[in-house]
Amino acid sequence: MKKNIILMGPPGAGKGTLAKQLKNYYNLVHISTGDMFRDAIKAGTELGKLAKGYIDHGDLVPDEVTIGIVKERLSQKDCEGGFLLDGFPRTLPQAEALSLLTKEINRPIDTVVNLDCDEKELVRRISGRRVCKTCGAPYHIDTMKPKVDGVCDLCGGPLYQRADDNEEALKVRLSHYVNQTKPLLDYYEKAGLLRNFNSLRGSEQVFDEVKEFLEK
Ligand code: AMP
Repeated sequence: MKKNIILMGPPGAGKGTLAKQLKNYYNLVHISTGDMFRDAIKAGTELGKLAKGYIDHGDLVPDEVTIGIVKERLSQKDCEGGFLLDGFPRTLPQAEALSLLTKEINRPIDTVVNLDCDEKELVRRISGRRVCKTCGAPYHIDTMKPKVDGVCDLCGGPLYQRADDNEEALKVRLSHYVNQTKPLLDYYEKAGLLRNFNSLRGSEQVFDEVKEFLEK
């Protein structure tokens, strides 16, 4: 079973949703750099203060900061049984640092699961996305509505729209994706680790396809 996994794909492709499904099913550690930054912002830490300006504009947080927090998290004991990297790496220096780190701690990446999605659908998904403030569960105002308006089905927490889920920040995020992150697909293809999935098929079907692939 492949258990050390990188999830890749543009913003809105469904990495977070897939990560939550896989985490619950296989009991893997979910490492989302975006969530780590948002938690730090909520807690008002130095990291949060530094990250906020970048995130609100859709820009990438500097590599040395991002690499630092992933190094610390991935080295912890609970990642021994497998992990899902969601939103990392996003740049070549991050991918290179990750290769070195996974060698150092002897937790090699087993596979890179890439979610393909066209741009029109990404914009639709992101502009209607809502997230639970308490547990992070994802919703959509048209296609994944909660039972009670504005309230999380899972924990009762309030739903909100991420500050960077607006048209302007999304444009910036997509351009960073195309220029800096998409080239990593080549990097992982050459390493023989890349596997593509069509995220337009819907989250349940993608989950089933990925499960089958991981267990092969
Ligand atoms: P996400 O939740 O993955 O969409 O990430 C939200 C934001 O956090 C991104 O738009 C970036 O500003 C920042 N971020 C998350 N992961 C990274 C990363 N690997 N490198 C740089 N910035 C990141």
